[in-house]
Amino acid sequence: MDLGIKGRVALVTAASRGLGFAVAEQLSREGAMVSICGRSRERIDAAAETIRKKTNGDVAAFEADVTDHGAVKDMVQEIKKRFGSLDILVCNAGGPPPGMHHDFSIDDYRAALELNLLSTINLCYEALPFMKERRWGRIVAITSVAAKQPLDNLILSNTARAGVLGFIKTLSNQVASLGITANCVCPGYTKTERVEELAKKFASDEKGSEDDFYDRLIAAIPAGRVGSPEEFAQTVAFLVSAGAGYINGVALQIDGGFYRGII
Ligand code: NAD
Repeated sequence: MDLGIKGRVALVTAASRGLGFAVAEQLSREGAMVSICGRSRERIDAAAETIRKKTNGDVAAFEADVTDHGAVKDMVQEIKKRFGSLDILVCNAGGPPPGMHHDFSIDDYRAALELNLLSTINLCYEALPFMKERRWGRIVAITSVAAKQPLDNLILSNTARAGVLGFIKTLSNQVASLGITANCVCPGYTKTERVEELAKKFASDEKGSEDDFYDRLIAAIPAGRVGSPEEFAQTVAFLVSAGAGYINGVALQIDGGFYRGII
């Protein structure tokens, strides 16, 4: 299936590894001109080089922390200069630390909102003028299934990501008539490096084996397995495709059925 995004200009943030990296690779495979950013010059350059080798695509790497609004602005301007536009925006960042309400101060909430909510809003504000100019755009915000079904030990993440759902849904109403869609994806447990590190830590803390770690996660997943970054990335690639132009304002779980609600 041709997704119709050959030659489209895409930005995927926080993409030196994990879900962001997988999405960037998939978009490059589909023929988009992809820019990626991360906080370490060395890691983001290495990621870009890996994608280029795998896809033969045009991939640009930027050193930018998504919470640094100035750096994000400069990056988007540079993308416009280099590729002529910005058609596809995939907003991603790391997750805030786990914990319960008594573990955190108000400053911890501020940091989580900066990392996951305000970074997304800022990226959208920077990208929208270019999308409006071409009357075509695709915005996807990577959140978490915890935004729909809060997980007890993720109070910072639950709070910040619910805000992203509210922002993107509202934005989607306001830009759809301009040919721009805005959607959220809500990953459930997906086997990225981060999850692999958690499994190793679980084992090194002598809480059980790595298999025990995955067995605990899987117990709550109807699919009976954790997801792969590749299947996550293929879903995001479809959402930014030409053919998905009538999918607007959704918050789509990619979670093997972990979320138990019906809407
Ligand atoms: P990951 O830790 O493997 O990768 C996150 C990437 O973001 C890394 O490259 C990291 O360097 C980069 N990053 C972190 N903070 C950044 C910042 N301020 N600016 C720029 N880059 C930054 O995580 P992942 O598993 O790929 O998850 C991606 C997002 O999806 C996270 O927000 C995570 O909480 C969320 N999520 C993941 C899962 C899962 O099971 N993997 C499930 C639900 C939600």
